[in-house]
Amino acid sequence: MSRLMGLYAQHLGAEQQSPYASEADYEAAVVRAAELLGQADFVVAGIGSGMSSACGYDHYHPIPEFGPGGTLERFRRAHGFDTLMDGYYHLYATNEERWGFTAAYVDYVESAPVGRAYRQLAALLVEKDHFVLTTNVDGQVRRSFEPERTWLFQGDLAFLQCGQPCCDELWPADAFVRRALDAMGEDDVSAPSELLPRCPRCGWLMAPWVRDETFLEGSFWRAQRRRYEAFVRDALSSGERVLFLELGVGGMTPGVIELPFWDMVARNSNAFYLRVNYGKAGEPRQLGERSLTVCADIADVMDRVCALLGAREEER
Ligand SMILES: [Zn+2]
Repeated sequence: MSRLMGLYAQHLGAEQQSPYASEADYEAAVVRAAELLGQADFVVAGIGSGMSSACGYDHYHPIPEFGPGGTLERFRRAHGFDTLMDGYYHLYATNEERWGFTAAYVDYVESAPVGRAYRQLAALLVEKDHFVLTTNVDGQVRRSFEPERTWLFQGDLAFLQCGQPCCDELWPADAFVRRALDAMGEDDVSAPSELLPRCPRCGWLMAPWVRDETFLEGSFWRAQRRRYEAFVRDALSSGERVLFLELGVGGMTPGVIELPFWDMVARNSNAFYLRVNYGKAGEPRQLGERSLTVCADIADVMDRVCALLGAREEER
């Protein structure tokens, strides 16, 4: 499973030629994108892994942290992987090894600053009625937008759930992460057995709150979904301009963001679709003039759109 996902992700992230014949063509697409954003009354943003990659947080490809002197080098030496996803889905011999890497992974994402593209998007959306749906689990969306305006569809690495699950509760992972990493020091790759996080209700091992076959779609997740659905319904029925803004969505979960966005835009004449994605050119034909793809690096597109609209990101 993980190996296939990794290969697929590499295929999605493969280098490709820009589809723009000239800089002027690219600039025209960016100007149109800024217009769509500037004119929108409501923005429904859907964010995939490409957005975090544009900020330098690549979960699918080798990163320097696994290299010589890196904070994750010991895990590469012990287990042979050099990407975060391969580490997450690695079949460990023991729970202690699995939680050793998990602690380091959570620490990596939680100690990473909020990426520039996220800060820029937050600045662009601050004046708009907006909602952000994401398939990312790295906390960048959670840390960039108000909780009432986000739906963490696949969960979030910074939370733990009961592994069964026996109960509808989430716990912050940080206390476990801190204790485990302190105990492991600089060389150990296994978390001490007595520190493995256990459900206080049933004693079962916990699991990261990240989608798999036991993922907890509990009251927190369902409340996010309800708010998202109400937001989209109210926006579409307002008659005002609704922009569905898709950023860096890959091909692994098209049913979460991409296909529902196409469907809602196709069925509502006040809805518009804007996709920014380095790996996808062209837009769905059925959406006609109400659709635009900017096929370029999200970081560069965000810089240009912010400059055109006069938006300034805040430091976080
Ligand atoms: Zn339990």
